[in-house]
Amino acid sequence: MSDTHAVGRIVFGVLVAAALVVGAAPAEAQRARSVNEARALRAVLAHRGAGRRWRTIVLHHSATPAGSPQAFEAWHRGHRRFAYGMAYHFVIGNGRGMPDGHIEAGSRWRLQQQGAHVAARLRDERGSSVAAHAIGVCLVGDFERSRPTRAQLASLTRLLRALQRRYGIASNAVHGHGEVHPGHTACPGRALREWQRSG
Ligand SMILES: [Zn+2]
Repeated sequence: MSDTHAVGRIVFGVLVAAALVVGAAPAEAQRARSVNEARALRAVLAHRGAGRRWRTIVLHHSATPAGSPQAFEAWHRGHRRFAYGMAYHFVIGNGRGMPDGHIEAGSRWRLQQQGAHVAARLRDERGSSVAAHAIGVCLVGDFERSRPTRAQLASLTRLLRALQRRYGIASNAVHGHGEVHPGHTACPGRALREWQRSG
C-alpha cells in the first residue's frame, strides 16, 4: 500500500466522520426540540380537577396587530365585563405582545370553565350549548389584513393535534368562528380560513 493511498484513506475516514457528526447534530437537536415541545405542550394542557366534555374546537383571530393573554384578560374583564376573564382557552402569540408561536392557556382552561368566545345562545345540532363544549383558540393577529406567522401555524397544528387526540375531536369538528355563527363575524380572518381549507 502506498503512502498516498494511506493518506487518502485517512482523509476519507475523517470526511465520513465529519459528515456523520454534522448529520447527527440536527437530528439530535430536532429530537431535543420535540421533547421540549411535547413537555411544554403537556404543561399548557394541564388543568385542575375533572375535565369537561369538549366536543369541538373554535378558532379565532384577535383582530388586533398585537396581543397577549394579559391584554385580552384586561379587555374581557374590564371592557366586556366577563366575570371569568379572558374568553378564550388558549392564545398563540405572534411576537407582538408575547413570543411568536408561544401557546398559553387561560384560567378558563385551567379551571375547565366554558369559554365566552362564541355567543351563549348558539346551539349545536343536538340542541345543546356550543359554548359549553367548545374549546376556544385565539391566534394573535388580524388575518383579514395579514397572515399568521409560520411559528403560529406550527403551534396551532401541534395544539389541535393534541386536543383532538385527547378528546376524540374529529377534524370536521374544528371550526372557524364564522362557521359556527354564520353572518356574524369575519373571524378568524381570511388567511386563517384559507389555511383551514388547505389543511
Ligand atoms: Zn372569533
